[in-house]
Amino acid sequence: MEVPFQDLKSQYKAIKEEINPAIQEVLESSAFVLGKSVKEFEEQFARVHEVKHCIGLSSGTDGNHSVLWALGVKVGDEVIMPVNTFIATAWGVVLNGARPVFVDCDAESANISVPQIEQHITPKTRAVVAVHLYGQAADLDPIRKITDRYKIYLVEDCAQAHLAEYKGKKVGGLSEAASFSFYPGKNLGAYGEAGAATTNNDALAATIRMIREHGSSEKYRHEIFGHNYRMEGIQGAVLKVKLKYIEDWTEKRRNAARLYSQYLNDIEEIKTPSEMPYAKHVYHLYVIQLTRGLEDERNRLAEYLKESGISTGLHYPIPLHMQKCFSYLGYKAGDFPVAEKLARSGLSLPMFPELKEEQIEYVAKKIRNFFKSENQSKRSAVEESIK
Ligand SMILES: *Cc1c(COP(=O)(O)O)cnc(C)c1O
Repeated sequence: MEVPFQDLKSQYKAIKEEINPAIQEVLESSAFVLGKSVKEFEEQFARVHEVKHCIGLSSGTDGNHSVLWALGVKVGDEVIMPVNTFIATAWGVVLNGARPVFVDCDAESANISVPQIEQHITPKTRAVVAVHLYGQAADLDPIRKITDRYKIYLVEDCAQAHLAEYKGKKVGGLSEAASFSFYPGKNLGAYGEAGAATTNNDALAATIRMIREHGSSEKYRHEIFGHNYRMEGIQGAVLKVKLKYIEDWTEKRRNAARLYSQYLNDIEEIKTPSEMPYAKHVYHLYVIQLTRGLEDERNRLAEYLKESGISTGLHYPIPLHMQKCFSYLGYKAGDFPVAEKLARSGLSLPMFPELKEEQIEYVAKKIRNFFKSENQSKRSAVEESIK
């Protein structure tokens, strides 16, 4: 049986009859950049995410960049962020000239470790970026307490967390401002690059709108520095169609996760992901962790699954403090033990709304077989050494 990591083709097939005319309409109208489709998508996405403003951008990375830019983060500032995330979270900081200050993750949720945030605050700290990693909200209330006390900004990176909830409220409107990615593989994916920023703050929304359009709100009148971060019309049209399905797709992901956990729970060599009591997890990724084995065994498992037709992923194999581009920050191996262990022992299983129960059952069976044969070969190695 083949189990791909995700399946964008079958999703397209299912909604082709709606997608094709929506793209056609953009072609006919020649509204290739921003335009009606983007404006409508922005309004609808803001409504779905229970937030006042949505600004369509050209990627999630642009969202990371422009949110901190609009808040005035600049050279000499420090921004606290989790060490276990996709690198684009850090681009948002460094592209504004600021210094990323990494914090280890919590072993249970894989999100930023809240108790460790405060010890990294200095007079230069301007903001904390909470990343809702794998589709699960970070624990925002205690983070908010800290950012309020020190009068610094809290922002969210929601690139993996469309429709995710924190204590019953949708992420994206629970901080000063948030960024979303609509990269094709994300839970809500465009047919190309796209992203957005969301906020309840009118002034901030206006600034982000100006930043995405060369620092202007009126053509050829440039009030501030800016960039070209506009969303394309075709992406707005695609996203508008897909937005109708996102709730259903999210429930399907949650159901797939539930089934995985049922099938895998009794395998003591792995730990399945936890849904924290404050969170509604949307399972952008379903990441299991080896409880005892590390890199070698994890890689052997991935290889074994690959030979069985199952694709897996690593999120993320090298924590940010160990990336060459951040060597100037002076971190070393051992600085963030939880993230480092996760990098060596985590494995992302296939996860997409169209995943079938028999595929999940098959993946679980193969994982079980792998540990059975690992244990057998370990036992025979021990017996061999006794002889
Ligand atoms: C994907 C992702 C981004 C960047 O989004 P792009 O649209 O690919 O630029 C940022 N942060 C996180 C956590 C992501 O997963």
